[in-house]
Amino acid sequence: MDHTLLAKLDLTARYHTSIGQHYMAAYLQNQYNLLKNITEKQKQYIAATYYIPGELLACFDVEAVFLERFAGFAAAWRLLDHPVARADTIEFPADGCSYQALFHLLLTEKIIPKPAAFAAMNFACRNAWQYCKSETQRHYLPFFHVDVPRVFSQRQICILADELQTLYNRLCKMFPIKAEIQDVVHASNEALAVQQEMNAYRRAHPEKCSTIDFLKLFPLYNDLGKPDTPDILQGFLKRLTETAAPGTGNIPRVLWLGIVPLYKNSLLTKIEKQGHCKIVWEEMFDFGNIKLSCDSFFPDLAKRILTSRFFTQESRLADILQSVKDFGAQGIIHFSQRNCRFLPPAVPLIRQMAQELHIPFLELRGDAVDPGYFDEQAAAMQLEQFYEQLHRSTPCI
Ligand code: SF4
Repeated sequence: MDHTLLAKLDLTARYHTSIGQHYMAAYLQNQYNLLKNITEKQKQYIAATYYIPGELLACFDVEAVFLERFAGFAAAWRLLDHPVARADTIEFPADGCSYQALFHLLLTEKIIPKPAAFAAMNFACRNAWQYCKSETQRHYLPFFHVDVPRVFSQRQICILADELQTLYNRLCKMFPIKAEIQDVVHASNEALAVQQEMNAYRRAHPEKCSTIDFLKLFPLYNDLGKPDTPDILQGFLKRLTETAAPGTGNIPRVLWLGIVPLYKNSLLTKIEKQGHCKIVWEEMFDFGNIKLSCDSFFPDLAKRILTSRFFTQESRLADILQSVKDFGAQGIIHFSQRNCRFLPPAVPLIRQMAQELHIPFLELRGDAVDPGYFDEQAAAMQLEQFYEQLHRSTPCI
């Protein structure tokens, strides 16, 4: 087994401890422990896609590896060069998403071992669950598939709740119980309460909050229900409230939509510096606002998915408009992931909304995982134009 990822996680956790970011160190340390368990201690794990509720998996004595998070680590640390081209040579579908391509490479390069099972949803995208399905067929592994309805209604909540309960029952047959539902519910609600507090704080003090920090930690969504997630979020909140506000003056505020090139986190800081603006909000650090209850655990989880800001284009647009108003945003940038059919299709509608508000909108296209598909020069030229528009626009909100 290749230990590069383990070493990187260890080193980065230590680095964050040394600079006093203990919440980030704790987050990374958890992932380090997980990776150590499944590699050195050969503990079984389930490979899961993003919207499989972390609370369900937290009930069982099995590790949960969320595909996108591990692909994200590998991309951020450029563990494997040219992941898309490399995945192509092992017959990964050309129209697939690079998140799964990179996860697939982590498996084939033996950086992480083979999972005991895959758990996938057909929300947010087809790519992820189709990849999981084909892997389970190839390796004769169990596949837990959760079918998410396409529309929101009370009946659809019940249907999805049944699907989630079936997943829970199937997992019960395969793995021992580690935590009671009531403990998981308590931890999840506690974490959600802190997360809500953080988002309220961001609205009140956008100048004190670094958007990239929120983009780094939004995968904590997958850790809802784990006992130490509330503490990690508390540490993050404490750090925010204790940070002295930089004097940003009266500079334009910008919303960042979609994901971020993971190998180039510095992009946001660069945009703020070069464009004399402040990126005040992203849309990923939103865990919904559904408190769980032991009596309605599965319907509550179902409701959280079906009321996600991303569930329909209308709800996403409404949330974006609200954020523009809340922050007095004077510009919007959307980073569109190559081959993704989930967030980029809303771009024409967001563009139209920005036109109606008389604020500039920019779509940057690229690949969040593979730097070979992000044309930095073209992006720099697009950004120059955006900055010009930003500084002469008059918002009507
Ligand atoms: S980036 Fe898009 S296609 Fe890729 S895993 Fe996420 S939702 Fe699916």
